[in-house]
Amino acid sequence: MRLSRYFLPILKETPKEAEIVSHRLMLRASMIRQQSAGIYSWLPLGLRVLDRIADIVREEQNRSGAIEVLMPTVQSADLWRESGRYDAYGKEMLRITDRHEREMLYGPTNEEMITDIFRASVRSYRDLPLNLYHIQWKFRDEVRPRFGVMRGREFLMKDAYSFDTDMERAKEAYNRMFVAYLRTFRRLGLTAIPMRADTGPIGGDLSHEFIILADTGESAVFCDKALLDLPIPGEDTDFTGDLSPIVKAWTTPYAATEEMHDETAFAGVPEERKVAARGIEVGHIFYFGTKYSEPMGAKVAGPDGTERPVHMGSYGIGVSRLLGAIIEASHDDAGIIWPDSVAPFDVGLINLKPGDAPTDEAVAVIERELEAAGLSVLTDDVDTRAGAKFAAMDLIGLPWQLIVGPRGLATGEVELKRRATGERETISLEAAINRLT
Ligand code: ATP
Ligand code: MG
Ligand code: MG
Ligand code: MG
Repeated sequence: MRLSRYFLPILKETPKEAEIVSHRLMLRASMIRQQSAGIYSWLPLGLRVLDRIADIVREEQNRSGAIEVLMPTVQSADLWRESGRYDAYGKEMLRITDRHEREMLYGPTNEEMITDIFRASVRSYRDLPLNLYHIQWKFRDEVRPRFGVMRGREFLMKDAYSFDTDMERAKEAYNRMFVAYLRTFRRLGLTAIPMRADTGPIGGDLSHEFIILADTGESAVFCDKALLDLPIPGEDTDFTGDLSPIVKAWTTPYAATEEMHDETAFAGVPEERKVAARGIEVGHIFYFGTKYSEPMGAKVAGPDGTERPVHMGSYGIGVSRLLGAIIEASHDDAGIIWPDSVAPFDVGLINLKPGDAPTDEAVAVIERELEAAGLSVLTDDVDTRAGAKFAAMDLIGLPWQLIVGPRGLATGEVELKRRATGERETISLEAAINRLT
């Protein structure tokens, strides 16, 4: 992609309305634009990252055996009356009336709708286990939308829903999601800690929030440092096998959010391993049994022919919130430092002298070779000062910068910079291409 033909309206000034660094950097790097409180347009650079995050989430959901669907954003109020949540949900729900005076709503979550899909077609235990997910926009009329995409009103969520014959099987489904989440967040360059979370009126211990430690996090969290070094299950994990040892290893050290915090249990953690910090909730998994299947009549016949309400769980990931969370975890004074896995482009190719024929030619050759090797390249071919080019590249945080100018080219050399470490190397053109491809 050529910068001269791209849409990257970088801001020179730091926007005053942004309270935290990720929000400031997303606005400055022109990734998003606020349209109303908590409602954003995704500009090209932001959309590329959003799509890459969604792709990783999708790959790990699929690997765990979940199946993708797509449900609508607008739902009928009647469905929510069946579960009793239409009135219970309160002001966070955006309620809409259509031209026939029918009550509709913009979905804040999809338990009712997925239960409706399930009950319409699944009858037998033989069709289970089943886990259906989608990646779809949600609307919650948050009292205080803030911190940019971290707490938006319209936001992108991955939500999965599992269906099983009984609690034991439902726990297996829960474990699959638990492990998929560990893998997902690590691939996004994050250390997310599963923490015991409030299960509300249902009780039990089957709810975990996946939390990123960050000073700007909205919840107070407490955990054992040992969790920061536990190994993440590999790509070869057998999701049809018993995953409970992995879940046990991850749930044995102390970890809880404020609501579930137990000072007595925390006192048992060795002093030097105690972490009391702030955290960002990037995912949440939940087993809720027959809460929706019972009132909505989602039943399956067991081997004995008797019909019973299906046991369900739901599993969310804040896909759009993750952009903010990743930036909170990975930036410096100059700007964003994208993990390789989600960077909007792999390489920023800087032409120090656009209009100089040999430099333009060399840049075109490098661009072709990198792209042929499957890398995405943003080429700065705009006639601006070198200082401005470097600052913009640092701000948008691409993992590699390749700097090409007439002086270096005279001896066949270019400069390669790794954004994360700031390390710069002057090497031959071929060596640079070899390094990147
Ligand atoms: P929070 O405690 O931050 O309000 P929640 O517990 O209400 O989140 P869930 O219902 O568990 O959210 O939804 C699943 C995931 O969706 C959350 O873990 C979070 O990552 C994301 N999410 C929830 N609300 C928002 C929001 N307003 N903006 C962006 N992402 C959100
Ligand atoms: Mg909430
Ligand atoms: Mg929460
Ligand atoms: Mg939650």
